[in-house]
Amino acid sequence: MAKADFGVFIGRFQPLHIGHEHVIRQALEQVDRLIVLVGSASTARNPRNPFTFEERAAMIRSAFAYEIAEGRLLIEPLGDHLYSDTAWVTEVQRRVNALAGEAAGGHPARVALTGYGKDASSYYLKLFPEWSNIQINSQYGTFSSSDVRKRYFQRIPEVPGTILSAGVAEWMEEFKMGPAFRTLLEEAEYLADYPKKWGKGPFVTADAVVIQSGHILLVERGNAPGKGLLALPGGFVDHDERIRDAAVRELREETGISDAKGQIPPAMLASFIEDSRTRVFDAPGRSLRGRVITHAFLFRLPERRELFQVRGLDDAAHAQWFRLGDLKPGMFFEDHWSIIEEMADL
Ligand code: NAD
Repeated sequence: MAKADFGVFIGRFQPLHIGHEHVIRQALEQVDRLIVLVGSASTARNPRNPFTFEERAAMIRSAFAYEIAEGRLLIEPLGDHLYSDTAWVTEVQRRVNALAGEAAGGHPARVALTGYGKDASSYYLKLFPEWSNIQINSQYGTFSSSDVRKRYFQRIPEVPGTILSAGVAEWMEEFKMGPAFRTLLEEAEYLADYPKKWGKGPFVTADAVVIQSGHILLVERGNAPGKGLLALPGGFVDHDERIRDAAVRELREETGISDAKGQIPPAMLASFIEDSRTRVFDAPGRSLRGRVITHAFLFRLPERRELFQVRGLDDAAHAQWFRLGDLKPGMFFEDHWSIIEEMADL
C-alpha cells in the first residue's frame, strides 16, 4: 500500500512519556508527516489533566525538536465534546483537513491513524473508517501517564526519569516548584480523601442551566475541588426530594435569583423548566470525586432587557450572569462546559 501522506496520533500526553514517543517514532517511519492532536486541550487544570495544551506542546517539542524543525511533526490542540462523539470527530476531521488538504500531487491526502488500543478508553480509534491504520509493534512498557501522575502529585514528588525523556523530566522538575503544582497537589489530596469520607457513589446530583436573553447564570466555586472555576448552580439530591426539586432548591440557594418582587418562589422557578430538554449526564469519568450522575434542567427565563437579579460578589456562592459568547471551556469545573454545549445548543 502507498505510504500515507499524513499520519494522525491523538492523545492527552498528561504527561508525554517514552511509550508515546515510541509510537511517534514508529509512525514517522511510515508516513511523510505526522499530526499530533493534543486532546482535552482546553479543559481547566485538574489532577487528571494537569498540564495545559501549551505545556504539553512544549514537552513534545523538547523530545522532537529536529522532526518539528524539518516540518515532519505538527502539533495541534483538540477540544473535548464529552457528550457528542460526532462533534469531537468533526473537530478531528477539521483539524486534519486544515493541515492535510491536498497532497503534493494534487490528489486528496492519504491519511492514516495511529494509536495503541490500550483499553476501553481507546474506542475512539475506530471512529475514523476513512483512514487506514499505522501499525505500531506493541505497547512500549507497561507504564502509563496515570502512573507518572500518581508518583508526581505527592508531598515528595517523584519525577520518574526512566519513563520520561530528559526534556520532559526537566520540565516537570521545574513545574513542581511553582504555584500551579501546589494547587494541583492540594486538589489531588482532597480527591484521594473523598471516597474515604463519602464512599465511591454513584451519587445523584441536579444542575440548573439557566438561560435569559443570551446569558447564562453561573456560580464561581468557593472551595475544592475546582476552587475559582465556573460551575452550573446545582448539587446533591437530598434523600427525601425529587431530582427536579433539588435543581430548583440549589438554584435558589446558590444564586438567590429574584425579580422586582423578591426571591422567585420555587413553583414559579420550576415553571420555567423545559421538561423535554431534561437530560442525564453520566460520563463515567466526569467527576474525579467518584461516580457522579447528574441531571440537567433547562430553565428558560423570559427574554427581557433587564436580567433577573442574582447575588453579587460578596456572597459565599458568587453567582453571576455571563454572556454565552464570552465563555471558554477552560473556565469550567468538571464537564459543565460540555453540558452547556448540549443543553443550550451551542
Ligand atoms: P493517552 O495520552 O493516554 O494515550 C495516547 C495514545 O498513546 C493512545 O493511543 C495510547 O494507547 C497510547 N499509549 C499510551 N501508553 C502507551 C505505551 N506505554 N506504549 C505505547 N502506546 C501507549 O491519551 P488518551 O486518553 O487515549 O487520549 C484520547 C483523547 O481523545 C483525550 O483527550 C479524550 O478526551 C479525547 N476523546 C474525546 C472524545 C469526546 O470528546 N467525545 C471522544 C474520544 C476521545
